Amino acid sequence: MSKANKNTSFYNLIPSLDKLMREDVLVVCAEKFGHQSIKLIAQEVLGYLREKISASDVETISVLGKESAVSDIAEEICARATNALKSPITPVFNLTGTVIHTNLGRAALAPSAVVAMTQAAEQTTNLEYDLETGKRGDRDTVIEGLLCDLTGSEAATVVNNNAAAVLLTLNSLARGKKVAISRGELVEIGGAFRIPEVMTTAGCSLFEVGTTNRTHLNDYASAFELDEVALLMKVHSSNYEIKGFTSSVSERELASLARQKDVPLISDLGSGSLINLSRYGLPSEPTVKDVIADGANIVTFSGDKLLGGPQVGIIVGSKKLIGQIKSNPLKRALRVDKTILAALLGTLRLYQDPASLSHRLPILRNLTRNADDIQALAHEIAPKFVTLLSGIAIVTIEDCMSQIGSGALPLDLMPSSSVVLAPVAEKGQRDIALQKLAKSFRCLPKPIIGRISDGRLFFDLRCLWDKDELLAQLDFLK
Ligand SMILES: *Cc1c(COP(=O)(O)O)cnc(C)c1O
Repeated sequence: MSKANKNTSFYNLIPSLDKLMREDVLVVCAEKFGHQSIKLIAQEVLGYLREKISASDVETISVLGKESAVSDIAEEICARATNALKSPITPVFNLTGTVIHTNLGRAALAPSAVVAMTQAAEQTTNLEYDLETGKRGDRDTVIEGLLCDLTGSEAATVVNNNAAAVLLTLNSLARGKKVAISRGELVEIGGAFRIPEVMTTAGCSLFEVGTTNRTHLNDYASAFELDEVALLMKVHSSNYEIKGFTSSVSERELASLARQKDVPLISDLGSGSLINLSRYGLPSEPTVKDVIADGANIVTFSGDKLLGGPQVGIIVGSKKLIGQIKSNPLKRALRVDKTILAALLGTLRLYQDPASLSHRLPILRNLTRNADDIQALAHEIAPKFVTLLSGIAIVTIEDCMSQIGSGALPLDLMPSSSVVLAPVAEKGQRDIALQKLAKSFRCLPKPIIGRISDGRLFFDLRCLWDKDELLAQLDFLK
């Protein structure tokens, strides 16, 4: 037989597209990713097989000759589809040592919040429908009572994030007017969120009082003599701290001035906490309830920082002011959807039982984790790193400090343990070797994200709970 003829008969070994698509794995795959997408990938694989045969590739021909050929090809198509069609938002191991990491999506949600969220996503809901009257309702209704209970406020509303909460509050209460704020609180939170810019975007103008390090009640009081101030604002300097010769004015003192001048006091708490964290052995931050009790008329805070819920901005305070905020057309532009509201509700419900919170809320579970347990974990997983990285990196276990992140208590660190990798390389090559090493971990099917410090790669294990899952990933290291 001539070579051409022989190849023709090998072509007959390639299964038809129809036959392949009837294979169980591909039926399941097609349901998951869509029939058309799987068909396209199948055609690509068949084209590849034809090319191999035309090149008389011995290995391909022997694979095609096997009895399991059809199911093997279907498996290959399924693997390619899973890889090509998987979501570009992929879970990662956060071993950076920063528990609430904005770039890594901040808080992981509690399972009960995820269940609530999924239910809301899968079905139509009574989001803005009053079941009692059969009329249009308000999407804040489901969440408002709980938020009021937990914060001691009269009213509450929820928007897309805390940046939106601040913007909306300023725009609703002081558009075209002056807002007095301490020079020590004209902060940048990150990205383009800088208080002076937000103020301008909200249509307000800034009235700066005091100095960078010291501001007194008197400075606020004299603002009213110099100009028509419509609002007092306090911003918690969440991601840094001024040390030394400093002084600032508390909400309580500001509240009495605000009452006297008949203007509202708003407080941007940033990482607002709903409970006193000292009961879990963590450093304490003023809670939202404290700040409301101190007399702030409006408090804004994030849902996905210390609170441990989905990305939202929460606004609580007086009924009258929340009413003004809710009737601003911007509120509609910044509102949250039903799945987010459900996740927030699922998270807030956990706060009704503070005793079980530290094991039910992932963020708190991470923050309260015992340093000895983390160290024991390091000893369990380090040997595999040693074996796999022999000649590439020196592996050690070291004590380190984790931080909360996202601006919460920036100076309060928590003792933890890391697996530390120091690349083995010539002196001039060490940085390149380090970058390459870090990249190889970032490129795993489930990426492992560490922190580079002092020429070494640190994997802080505070947020690692499933060590077997991590060890399985290491097998993919190239
Ligand atoms: C984080 C933070 C914000 C922004 O909150 P997002 O939820 O990221 O929008 C605003 N103000 C303060 C004080 C913050 O700490």
